[in-house]
Amino acid sequence: MGAEAIHKPALDQFSVQPIIGDYEETCKDFDWETAKDALDWFERDQSINIAHNCIDRHANGKLADKVGLHWIGGDGSEKIYTFKQLKEETNRCANLLKQIGIAKGDRVFLFLNRIPELYIGTMAILKVGAVAGPLFSAFGPDAIKDRLEDSGAVAIFTEASLKSRLEDVRSELPDLKHVILCGEHDAPDAAKGEVSYNEITAAASPEFEVERTSIDDYSIMHYTSGTTGKPKGAVHRHNSIISQKSTAQFALDLQDNDIYWCTADPGWVTGTSYGMIGPWSNGITQLVYAGGFDPDTWYGIIEKHQVTVWYTAPTAIRMLMKAGDEVPKKYDMTCLRHICSVGEPLNPEAIVWGKPIFNQAIHDNWWQTETGCIMIANYPPMEVRPGSMGRPIPGIQPGIIDDEGNEMPPGQEGNLAVRPGWPSMFQTYWNKQSMYDSRFQNGWYLTGDRAYKDEDGYYWFIGRSDDVINTAGHLVGPFEVESALVEHPAVAEAGVIGKPDKERMEIVKAFVALKDGHETSDELKEEIRLFVRNRLAAHAYPREIQFVDSLPKTRSGKIMRRLLKARDQGLPEGDTSTLEEF
Ligand code: AMP
Repeated sequence: MGAEAIHKPALDQFSVQPIIGDYEETCKDFDWETAKDALDWFERDQSINIAHNCIDRHANGKLADKVGLHWIGGDGSEKIYTFKQLKEETNRCANLLKQIGIAKGDRVFLFLNRIPELYIGTMAILKVGAVAGPLFSAFGPDAIKDRLEDSGAVAIFTEASLKSRLEDVRSELPDLKHVILCGEHDAPDAAKGEVSYNEITAAASPEFEVERTSIDDYSIMHYTSGTTGKPKGAVHRHNSIISQKSTAQFALDLQDNDIYWCTADPGWVTGTSYGMIGPWSNGITQLVYAGGFDPDTWYGIIEKHQVTVWYTAPTAIRMLMKAGDEVPKKYDMTCLRHICSVGEPLNPEAIVWGKPIFNQAIHDNWWQTETGCIMIANYPPMEVRPGSMGRPIPGIQPGIIDDEGNEMPPGQEGNLAVRPGWPSMFQTYWNKQSMYDSRFQNGWYLTGDRAYKDEDGYYWFIGRSDDVINTAGHLVGPFEVESALVEHPAVAEAGVIGKPDKERMEIVKAFVALKDGHETSDELKEEIRLFVRNRLAAHAYPREIQFVDSLPKTRSGKIMRRLLKARDQGLPEGDTSTLEEF
């Protein structure tokens, strides 16, 4: 597709005055060496620890009594931790981890709701030099098993309300030795390696010597979905904090007195890079809300807690839009200074809607699990271009390349790629080095997205270059859902696609062929939907199921999702020469 075919939204609501002069100056002056100066190194260019920089550094200095974490429970209860208290809590938890034998490099997962232990636990894991793997609390047993098994996790933090989903698959996880029970729980079962977080930390020392991790030591891993196979663990290093700290300043515009609210769950990279590391490495007070989405509650939080910087996602914004303009009128949100959004394309209408409500534009930015930090953003003082992801962050060199790896001129659609070398670039896919290697071509990291760049250097998202589904900001691999579907006793085979959706960008749609002897019915559809929801995750189940007699496959037996999609959406079917049957 050429530039002429690409839809450009009307810009009349905004005065678009890209500050090319200033922007280019900033880019020219920026280098990662200077960004390193803002951090506490054990040994410059060699050893650094994320948790030390996020917590202890402030606790040991003039920010000791500043609030680091302001936690709000779903029931409205609140807990406040200063950086000094966070240091003590994370030290106690680090001592717990040492006590049960966690060593540097061990993978320790967190399967928790957004309770304070999730944040404290992540920092404690980093303090001992282990690798933290946060999981969505919405995950079902299959999703948990895939991740713990692949990573060889030795320990997991969980809580009473979630434990049964882990227990369903525990016998298939021989590497998992320790289960750290947070909150209220029944007596721990020592035979299952269970220990009580509260009991051990109450007796633990608030002192701890942080591991002097090297820049290359692994820090956090997030599982992300691809077109084929199970999700893969993208692994980051302690070095990543260099990018996360500086981009939190550039793109989120964080300043000393901000009250910052990131709505992302730490199961997603946004919830760790910018729900912990970005704000805390800058000594910022951050708010965590453990409850779910509700327009009144969300607006109320902004007003009551005087949120100044808010980082959220397009689906949430569209849901706020749907709730209507009368709801926000009840709240005074003049405290908000800067709003950002990530995870899916932010449609121009959402920006136009938000302008009078929040008295400012919502700033879209682009990045992904593998990049570890924001790469492209609409950011101050640059004017927002509604519909565009913005321009590259200083220090980041993206490009649009063709399938051979050659850079393409402005206006041409191609593969969005980035020159490797920024500090938070992922280091590997756990145990899948060849898959990692396949993401590089001709000196570029291939993001898997299609985009184009305009003459002023703004990037415009077109879509994914693969079959990965983006539903409300969650990447869902069709293979994962297909695997869960065929576990249902009535399902013979299944093909899964993303179907465009106004609110969630895409929904998961499944085409299902039943085994002989099973009749199609609405009840069976619902049963299959629930089956996948309970096994996999609340965000990954097929909202729509269509029964079919058989699925289109290539001669080598691969389901042709592209064809399913084209037929579903009435698009041209393209090359079907390898099609075997339907
Ligand atoms: P994840 O790794 O789960 O964070 O997902 C990253 C993917 O989400 C990207 O590769 C894009 O496909 C999509 N994405 C993230 N931010 C944006 C954005 N601002 N506009 C369009 N797509 C986005």
